[in-house]
Amino acid sequence: MAMGDVSRAAATLRSALVGRPMLRFDAPVLIGPSPQAGRMVEAVEAKGRHVELLWDDGLVLDTKMKSKSEWHVYRNGAPWHRSWDALRASIQTDDFVAVCFDAAEIETYRLPDRQRHPGQGRLGPNLASARANLHDVVDLLLSYPDRDARLRDVMVDQHVMQGIGNVYRCEVLWAAELSPWAHVGDLTHHDALLIVNTAARMVRANSGRTRRATTTHTSIGLAVYGRCGQGCIRCRETIRSQPIGRYGRVLYWCPGCQVRLDRRQPAEVREMDPHPAASQFLNELPWRQVG
Ligand SMILES: [Zn+2]
Repeated sequence: MAMGDVSRAAATLRSALVGRPMLRFDAPVLIGPSPQAGRMVEAVEAKGRHVELLWDDGLVLDTKMKSKSEWHVYRNGAPWHRSWDALRASIQTDDFVAVCFDAAEIETYRLPDRQRHPGQGRLGPNLASARANLHDVVDLLLSYPDRDARLRDVMVDQHVMQGIGNVYRCEVLWAAELSPWAHVGDLTHHDALLIVNTAARMVRANSGRTRRATTTHTSIGLAVYGRCGQGCIRCRETIRSQPIGRYGRVLYWCPGCQVRLDRRQPAEVREMDPHPAASQFLNELPWRQVG
């Protein structure tokens, strides 16, 4: 597979997979943890001879392509153009299955945490566990070492709490009416309690389900995630989205009602949200028409 083909494969996978819950993952010879059903692919990147897929919980699938390697995307139930023997990985959603044939290596790993604090190497409680002590999570939020860290980053810091991927990060901040750009140091005790209890409730209500839902008021069951360009169910403002971080995981938020603790100056807001036309374009793609 030539370099240009790797880029094209990544683009095809992006169209077929990003933003849709994965129903099933198979890889006969996988090194590393398996992606979990119900997780969403958030990004697909071509890097040299590698195609990398990122799920919303931070798991990365790295497929190293050689000359006979290929990624194909099929509608579910359609016949494959290559033999089952050559299958190295398959990712199935409601509509499509993406199949990797004959890759040189198939490996998964977790993204390194962006926030590492000396002396705070321990992971936070896992919110999916009924034994998690939520008071500990509240304390970890209120004593966060970098007081200026933004909530959008702190929410997925595994040293504070585990179990929050990108979908819940967006949904919890919306439910709490908090700006993703709020500084963690500005949180009151009440805010911290609200975040932790909302997050634990969402994670536990959805454990074991393939399709996650945080609301019954949208057709996709989510208030902001995946709803860029559509109306907020609380204030009718248009939901915005923006890629953040190395993999461009997409943050979704409502600029109308998620304004609590937002200290940004108007110039900073404009700088961080420069492409309304691009958001509109993304919103018009057929696989975004979901609710
Ligand atoms: Zn709103």
